[in-house]
Amino acid sequence: MKEKTLFEKIIDREIPAEIIYEDNLCIAINDINPQAPTHILLIPKKPIINLNDCDASDSEIISHLFLKIKEIVSICNISEAFRININNGEGAGQEVFHLHIHILGGRKFNWPPG
Ligand code: 5GP
Repeated sequence: MKEKTLFEKIIDREIPAEIIYEDNLCIAINDINPQAPTHILLIPKKPIINLNDCDASDSEIISHLFLKIKEIVSICNISEAFRININNGEGAGQEVFHLHIHILGGRKFNWPPG
């Protein structure tokens, strides 16, 4: 059997995490190494590797994740200004190969990003 990703272990409560939100399709947790005062990871429960691993059958999940962002930022009181980020592939800084959206807020963000 395929080994569970870190986030599947969190979803299955095998590894603890601070859960901000959860439903049947996704979970949102505090990042263990926050890069801003608020740093949430919004994760589909399906272990999609990254955006290259999505297809039309994932359209409900992908739209659910993006539409969920405004609810998560409202819960975290960062609705006015926040940044979302997906590190897609090792060269872009992806370390956990289970799709996740970083949601960051609570500080000023620069552009271009590093
Ligand atoms: P990536 O680099 O793949 O885009 O992001 C992975 C994120 O997962 C990193 O920001 C990292 O801090 C976070 N992370 C790694 N291990 C854990 C963990 O055990 N718990 C939580 N909550 N976050 C983690």
